[in-house]
Amino acid sequence: MKLTNIDHIGIAVSNLGESLAFWQEMLGIELHGIEEVVDQGVRTAFLPISETEIELLEPMSGQSTVAGFIEKHGEGLHHIAIRVDDIEAALQELKARGVRLIDEVPRRGAGGTRIAFVHPKATHGVLLELCERSGTAGE
Ligand code: ZN
Repeated sequence: MKLTNIDHIGIAVSNLGESLAFWQEMLGIELHGIEEVVDQGVRTAFLPISETEIELLEPMSGQSTVAGFIEKHGEGLHHIAIRVDDIEAALQELKARGVRLIDEVPRRGAGGTRIAFVHPKATHGVLLELCERSGTAGE
């Protein structure tokens, strides 16, 4: 599999507006966009820093896994996403190596991406997202 870069770092937050105030006003990072990812029950905000983005994740309801995460751990680092050029190939390779996956088939992520999560038990404690972006910038 080919890993190209750290695509983004996901941070679970209780309140997107309050969190954005820090990242935008204190650090001066420009907001790339806000999107609802219904599949995961979250509102996401993307803040690009060069090749990588900060992804803020706010649960839309108590049913969201991100709501469960905040309840258990508090706000904070939720996942690291590595960009791959072929997500199916990456998943096949990991499966063949016996790596524990949360998603065996890719699902839809924010910004038109295709994503899949690797179980934190396999990575020694970090939720790892594989992320494939098709061709053109960000879409
Ligand atoms: Zn992500």
